[in-house]
Amino acid sequence: VLVLGIESSCDETAAALVDGEGRIVAQRIASQDAEHAPYGGVVPEIAARAHAERLAPMIEGVLADAGVDLADCDAIAATAGPGLIGGVMVGLVSAKALAMASDTPLIAVNHLEGHALSPRLADSSIGFPYALLLVSGGHCQILRVDGVGQYKRLATTIDDALGEAFDKTAKILGLGFPGGPAVERVAKDGDPSAVPLPRPMVGSGEPHFSFAGLKSAVLRAYESGNHTASDLAASFQQAAVDCVVDRLRIALESMDDVETLVVAGGVAANATVRAALEGLAADHGMRFAAPPPALCTDNAAMIAWAGVERLGQSDPLDIAARPRWPLDPDAEPVRGAGV
Ligand code: ATP
Ligand code: MG
Ligand code: FE
Repeated sequence: VLVLGIESSCDETAAALVDGEGRIVAQRIASQDAEHAPYGGVVPEIAARAHAERLAPMIEGVLADAGVDLADCDAIAATAGPGLIGGVMVGLVSAKALAMASDTPLIAVNHLEGHALSPRLADSSIGFPYALLLVSGGHCQILRVDGVGQYKRLATTIDDALGEAFDKTAKILGLGFPGGPAVERVAKDGDPSAVPLPRPMVGSGEPHFSFAGLKSAVLRAYESGNHTASDLAASFQQAAVDCVVDRLRIALESMDDVETLVVAGGVAANATVRAALEGLAADHGMRFAAPPPALCTDNAAMIAWAGVERLGQSDPLDIAARPRWPLDPDAEPVRGAGV
């Protein structure tokens, strides 16, 4: 089994070939950090153009790296949403053209499902069900994963995503873009208890998240001029981790039968987050799993893997790109929350 995966939903252009056992046969990834850095965030039009320039040669390169051609692929899996629509369209339309030309099934992958199943790509022994903390640039959710396509959302954020909070904190501290890795780096030299910061939602009986107030508190503390960037970064990171652990504790109360705790999405690359979750899992007698950091942030291997998990299915060539696409369409709406 061999699946070609294509990812272009944000600012990583990526292509990968993954086999049925989860071996990454070949992969290439191009970050657009340099293009967006002057603007302090991802500019959708610049992103779409960069994907359009890079994707075709990248796919050709990945096939060449593996010494295969499209005819050897059992499916072409591409992110079809959610994300910046221009970029998603570039990847999805490319996948459609390749699928049509090579008479290969197209699998339209939900980018969030790519993140959600990525722990199984990294470690095939992770079985269903599992409790999933999905923490990325656009999402902050706790889900119960019962199988491929079976996602029950238990919690979401009523304002900012966790990755967004890291990015905004980095901006306040003048650490540049992308912010998450910069905050983590600077926090290493700081004291996590130096700056008193709020833990929004902690103690609430519902497991939802909120990070806007934490970010505002970081801004006020920064403007007071009383703290170093390192102390601010470390204190922010600690406050965020305390929130995540508290919220997960509540959510896990309704998942008694679940034995594995999994974290995925860009923020799962953060060592302090991973260590805290490992501790939480141990407290609950649960197994803990997190993909290697390179599979936490956006990549095409996780999209190809979602294609492997869905092999046998295929989507029509007129399937639309979706800017929004909730993993759990039945989730109760939460006041103030996005998807
Ligand atoms: P989504 O997956 O919700 O559509 P996205 O694809 O933009 O959003 P990802 O690529 O999964 O998000 O994750 C990027 C986010 O992860 C950014 O907000 C980034 O700051 C954050 N991030 C990456 N590495 C780290 C880290 N080491 N520590 C904290 N945050 C990090
Ligand atoms: Mg990125
Ligand atoms: Fe992502």
